[in-house]
Amino acid sequence: MASEQVLKVADFQTEVHNDWCPGCGDFGILKAVQMALAELGVPPHNIAVISGIGCSGKTPHYLNAYAAHTLHGRPLPYASGVKIANPGLEVVAVGGDGDGMGIGAGHFVNMGRRNLDLAYVIHDNGVYGLTKGQASPTLKLGVKTKSLPKPNINDSVNPIWLALASGATFVARGYAFDIRHLKDLILKAVRHRGYAFVDVLQPCPTYNNLNTKDWFGGLDRAAAGKPLPRIYKLEERGHDPLVRTPEEADGKKLEAMKRGAEWGDAIPIGVFYQNPLLPTFEDRLEERIPAYRAEPPAQQVIADAQGRPTVRLGPLLDEFVVT
Ligand code: SF4
Ligand code: MG
Repeated sequence: MASEQVLKVADFQTEVHNDWCPGCGDFGILKAVQMALAELGVPPHNIAVISGIGCSGKTPHYLNAYAAHTLHGRPLPYASGVKIANPGLEVVAVGGDGDGMGIGAGHFVNMGRRNLDLAYVIHDNGVYGLTKGQASPTLKLGVKTKSLPKPNINDSVNPIWLALASGATFVARGYAFDIRHLKDLILKAVRHRGYAFVDVLQPCPTYNNLNTKDWFGGLDRAAAGKPLPRIYKLEERGHDPLVRTPEEADGKKLEAMKRGAEWGDAIPIGVFYQNPLLPTFEDRLEERIPAYRAEPPAQQVIADAQGRPTVRLGPLLDEFVVT
């Protein structure tokens, strides 16, 4: 892991004009990521933030670090390549629910099988905000947001279940308007040794008029004259996500799935599951290539000072000669 130093949130901010809609939950997620990276203490030049396509895809423009705004649904394979090439970097992938659970669903599932040491944050708003609010894979069956001509005809994917079933070793959910709590979750995700997934409930005030800040906050229902928030924190209701021995991994995962099934009047946020006991993909690579971490691909010299290639492919190609 990259060395740590004292940093400020401002170190991770940019001057790029931000064109997210006023009141969008994306602002809270961006702030939480910046706060988490500042607290982590790893300087921007040792961090890579990789995004897909969608409103969330603009994150790398607003966050000072090495970054790439990639293709629709592809932040995970791109981020995987970055991490494998340079395992000394902290890598954070960012995308939307449509990006990650629709076109990117295959990558999402296979990410869990590898347990690469990186974090993936999804802005989960139930719609394709960038393209005018079509139903995304996390929108519930039968609901009708204001940009749909008819109620949603498809059932929804449960990101918590899918991440658990796919093998993610850290699974959490945050809320875009509880920035400090979300910052803590993202910091835990980045510090986790292995693949960490954070689903973030992100109100889209422009296109999702159902799952709004007021709805999550329970303003439409009250007890003793006070709103009854739908969101609750797992850690305040006795949920223990940490796997301490290999034998308890399956039981902890089933408990996490039970919590992940909750929606409606009680919506949990916090860490559902954390298993730090499994080897990472980098560990497995190092078993096969002992010098992998000491001499990763990104640090190998491939050209001299004049730009002439120093890598000799001849011997490698000779190995493939069919006789
Ligand atoms: Fe945010 Fe929705 Fe506007 Fe996109 S369309 S910037 S998700 S409010
Ligand atoms: Mg979306």
